[in-house]
This record gives sequence, structure tokens and C-alpha cells, in this order.
Amino acid sequence: MALTFRGGIHPDDRKDATKKKPIENLAPPETVVIPMSMHIGAPCTPTVSVGDTVKIGTVIGDSSAPLSAPIHASVSGTVTAVEPRLHPNGSRVMSVVIANDYENTIDQSVCPKGSFESLSPEDIISIVRNAGIVGLGGAGFPTHVKISSGLGKVDTLIINCAECEPYITSNYRAMIETPEEIIGGIRILMKAFGLSSAVIGIESNKLDAIPSLEKALPSGGGGIKIKTLKTKYPQGGEKQLIYSLTKREVPPGGLPAAVGCAVFNPDTCAAIYQAVTTGMPLVSRVVTVSGSAIANPKNLRCPVGTMVSDLVTACGGFKEEPYKIIAGGPMMGSALQGVDLPIIKSSNSILSFCGNEDTSVAEPQCIRCGRCVSVCPMNLMPIYIRMYYEKERYDELEKLNVSDCIECGSCAYVCPGRLFLTQTCRVAKARLAEYKKKGAN
Ligand code: SF4
Ligand code: SF4
Repeated sequence: MALTFRGGIHPDDRKDATKKKPIENLAPPETVVIPMSMHIGAPCTPTVSVGDTVKIGTVIGDSSAPLSAPIHASVSGTVTAVEPRLHPNGSRVMSVVIANDYENTIDQSVCPKGSFESLSPEDIISIVRNAGIVGLGGAGFPTHVKISSGLGKVDTLIINCAECEPYITSNYRAMIETPEEIIGGIRILMKAFGLSSAVIGIESNKLDAIPSLEKALPSGGGGIKIKTLKTKYPQGGEKQLIYSLTKREVPPGGLPAAVGCAVFNPDTCAAIYQAVTTGMPLVSRVVTVSGSAIANPKNLRCPVGTMVSDLVTACGGFKEEPYKIIAGGPMMGSALQGVDLPIIKSSNSILSFCGNEDTSVAEPQCIRCGRCVSVCPMNLMPIYIRMYYEKERYDELEKLNVSDCIECGSCAYVCPGRLFLTQTCRVAKARLAEYKKKGAN
């Protein structure tokens, strides 16, 4: 029986538009705009100036803060600007702009790091940090910190191949096309954590990726097991995935390591494999470009810093002016202000939708059906969160554990009254955090 968790929803997965399309390399962009903040934690400070020549893999930004990750040039060429530019999160962020010389010259620091068998956990952490690897599933948490903070605590390594958000197929295509990179990265992570086993969780709508992954396993499986998960959203939520695979429950406010688990995205594993075997830092990624407004949806590999407009052009442009463009999935992604924005390390998808998919109503109203409560995978009560948020009752919001909301969007998806429940929960969380901070001062 496929493994699952409580609550959740069953949206149409809408993956058919790109599922069968092999990953294409985008034609080299003329210019890349690389923000100095593409991860959770301290932003980097630029280490290059206007006029500098850079190669693929040259460090262009770094930070001494423990929670950060360096940033590298994704094309070779000349730095033409170091200035604040619009970031996908809507703010202006210090960025390095590079004019591509189309020479694809590789920085001399990019070289293989030797057999992973001979590396210590500290060596692996250092390689991962220097390669600027962050969680590629969308969160952007620096991977070297996830490994170092889990040493001695983690007994279960989990690879999140659920890819449960509708439309997105970048992980799926990587599982089909380059499984040896994913399995290679898992083996390196097993070495780092000192574990003899790992488990890959994959949704039942991607069963054809299993033989591909199995072929890439070392003789005898190497301790790596593949388990089938029920196709249900948000199966790829860290807490839901951990529960489905291990029946362990991450406590409120806790991290996976609190229950002995560490969860990695398959693209992150592949990036670790590349960093060790070739020395190439994280300078490119696969992005699914899809949605009803896109003429020819595709999975595209592009340099970090490529403009969204370049990806849209490579997909034949828009069929009509989209009413909404989203970075990430339709459930958890965030709306973009336009297409003159760069792809960052955590951009797994760009979706755009025609106006006839706009389901919002002029006057959202609660009809007290309770559906939002029954689908919440975190056992929260979105309807009461909304009520107490409007009354600014922070004491009640705390009792309702609003901080546990993973912003999965399931409540808003099922709400017949079309209330903006996810957005309300997101703001309520932030307001409660501010309120508690003020109280502490
Ligand atoms: S799902 Fe919507 S309409 Fe139903 S109780 Fe929740 S908020 Fe109200
Ligand atoms: S309250 Fe949060 S966790 Fe629960 S369904 Fe809504 S968005 Fe998801």
C-alpha cells in the first residue's frame, strides 16, 4: 500500500504538458543578473567589480556568516554592473550583472575533488559550502548547514522525490535522464552522515522513474531503498514526507533532525555529486516552464541569473497576456511582477496562466463548511486562524499553532467561499512573530 499522511488534497497534477519532454539546454543568454541573496540566511557581499573578467565557477559573492552560501559566475564574460536589481521576491537586491562572452571558459578552481570514499564528513561539508549548494526544492536552505547541523543526530536520510506540486516535472526528468547523479549524491550524503542506508520517497504517479533510479543503484542496492508514496498534495512537505515514510512526527517548531531525519531534494543530491566529481559549483538548474499561457511548455536547463523572459521566449512566448506569472508551483509559489527577473538557485518552475483560470471572486465568504480544517495536513483550523487574525487576537493565534502552518495552500484550494486562507495564515504567522518579538523586548 502506498504510504501517506493525514489530510491533504488531490489536485489535477497537470504534468502532462512537460512530463515527456527531455530537459533542453537553453541557448546561452546574452546577460545574467545574479542576486547576492538566493538562500535562507545572510546575503553575500559582491567580491567582483564592474569591468572584472569572470569565468564559469568564479566566486562573485561570499559571506562570513555561518548561515549563507557563496555565489559563482554562471557564464564567462565581463561584469557590467554591481547594483540593486529587482529580485523574484519583489525587493531590490544587490546583484552582479555579467555580459556573456560565449567562450564558456571554466574557472581554474573547478576541478574534481577525488573519490568520495576517501573524503571525511568535514571535507564533504567544505566542498558543498564552497560549491554554493542550497536546497533546490524551493526553500534555498544552505546545504552545508543542513549536513553539519545533522551530524550525530540523523539516523534516516530521506530523498524527497515526491514533486507533488502540479505542473512541475524538473525532478521527474532528472530521475529519468540523469539518475546516476542523484544516486551518486545520495551516496556522498550517506558518507557525510556516516549512514549505511537511505530511502527515496516517490509518488505513485511517477512509477516509471523507479526502474531508472534502480539501474543507477550500486550492486546490491548500496543500502538505498525506493518507497512508493500515495499521490497526494503536499506529500513532498518535509513533515508529511517524514511521517509517510517513518511514522515519526516532527514536533511543532522543530526541524527534521529532531526526529533523526534529514531530507534532501534529488536536484540537490545531483548538485552535490557534480561538486565532488567535477568541482563545478551550483551555476545552473533545471526549470519547468509551463501553464496555460505558455505556447510550448518545456523543461529547460539554464545558467543561474538567466532572465525569466529568455525562458519564456525559448518556450515560444505567451499565447496571450497572462493574468498571473508564478515562480514555483501553483500551490506554494509566489507571484512575479513580470518577466524581467532572474532565475535564482531555488527557481524550480515558472508558470503563467490565462485569465480564464482566475477563480477569485469579488466578495469571498465563509459558509462554515469545515473543509479547510479537514484537509489541513498540519491539523490546523484555518477558519479560526482567519477569525482571530481579523480580531488581532495573538494569544488565540498562538493557541491555534499558526506558526506550524507550512503555507501549503490546501485550505485555500478547497475553500468554496474563495477566501485567501493561505495568505491570511502567512501574514498571521508573521504578525504573531512580530508581536512576540516586541513582547520579548
Ligand atoms: S473552507 Fe472556506 S467556507 Fe469552508 S469553513 Fe473553511 S473558510 Fe469557511
Ligand atoms: S493552514 Fe497552512 S498548513 Fe494548513 S492547509 Fe492552510 S496553508 Fe496548509
